[in-house]
Amino acid sequence: MSELRRETRVVHHPQPPVEGGRPIAVPLYQTSGFAFDDPAVFADGMGRPDGAFVYGRLSNPTVRSLEQAVSGLEGGAAAIATASGMGAINTVLLALLGPGDHVIAQRALYGGTAGALTELTARFGVQVTYVAEDDPEAMRAAIGPRTRLLYLETIANPTTQVADLPAMCAVAREAGVLTVVDNTFASPLLCRPLEHGADVVVHSSTKYLSGHADVLGGVAVFATDELYRRVWAFAVELGATADPFAAWLTLRGMQTLHLRMERHCHNTRTLATRLDGHPAVTVVHWPGLPSHPSHALAVRLLPDFGGVFSFDLAGGRAAGERFMAAVRLALLAPSLGGVETLVMHPATTSHRMLSAEELARQGIGEGTVRVAVGVEHVEDLWADLAQALAVATA
Ligand SMILES: *Cc1c(COP(=O)(O)O)cnc(C)c1O
Repeated sequence: MSELRRETRVVHHPQPPVEGGRPIAVPLYQTSGFAFDDPAVFADGMGRPDGAFVYGRLSNPTVRSLEQAVSGLEGGAAAIATASGMGAINTVLLALLGPGDHVIAQRALYGGTAGALTELTARFGVQVTYVAEDDPEAMRAAIGPRTRLLYLETIANPTTQVADLPAMCAVAREAGVLTVVDNTFASPLLCRPLEHGADVVVHSSTKYLSGHADVLGGVAVFATDELYRRVWAFAVELGATADPFAAWLTLRGMQTLHLRMERHCHNTRTLATRLDGHPAVTVVHWPGLPSHPSHALAVRLLPDFGGVFSFDLAGGRAAGERFMAAVRLALLAPSLGGVETLVMHPATTSHRMLSAEELARQGIGEGTVRVAVGVEHVEDLWADLAQALAVATA
């Protein structure tokens, strides 16, 4: 199927072969294990990812369909689906790192990932150096004899900086360092980090891949079969495995990924453009805007710029709180990538543990509002944001 376009591949999922007519939809194999007539086939399936399906923690046909579907979209050799995005991230970090190893990570990181790295430092002495996501020279200078891994995010939260994947991955590769990229915000329709030299791509499939705010999941995609097998053996022991029903819901949602992404991007462009220059707003963060620091890089790497943007209210924290209380259609909620528009105020929620100075270092203001734009009619969304802005600045 490699010649098919991604918009076709999200609709047609790979399936294990069955006798006679095939089901159109991927079947849900809601079973923890499989029974055998032949003990040799049973024994063979235990030790490798591509033998018979034996036990759900090793593999399951529904989960395998999801793994092959996401791997195909990302252009990888193989993938591992997990119970959550953090499950995928921790599986990869724990499988590839040992005590005393060194990681270079971008400064603006998803909170859960930053927490996981801090935990690895405290427990196992893993050293972490933070650099800007678009500074290959700083990255080169940070490389030491124990550097094992470079960790990037295609588009960062909530200020939407874009990582210079080709330049950063090239420096890592030269030094024999593996690159892991969290591609959650872009989805494989906007970016395939493996094409830019990454070795592993991780997703929170809770977000755009599943797309309906009804399931948690994660996927790690590997550039090579060797790397996949190395992490798979550890993943089986760790047990962060995806449940078949969660995998099935994710596959179901993924069939409209291309339609949803188009609308997410279109709606976001309209809202971000209108807010840019609004008297109550000091800055809009969306890489599609020429004023965004990542704009030139984003234009080079991405066909469109995603469905998450943020903006800073001139009135600071108080205006942010008034805005959140005033929105009616958009839901006050964490997460992103679903069909409903969600808003949050990082200073009082996701980033509440940071001081004003720490917030500023990450480019987040006390009046920053993050919008994860859904697929509603854009004029209904604009009417809601506009009335909430009026209340926030009254
Ligand atoms: C949500 C998210 C995660 C974590 O995924 P979960 O499914 O919540 O565990 C990791 N990275 C990014 C960029 C995310 O948005």
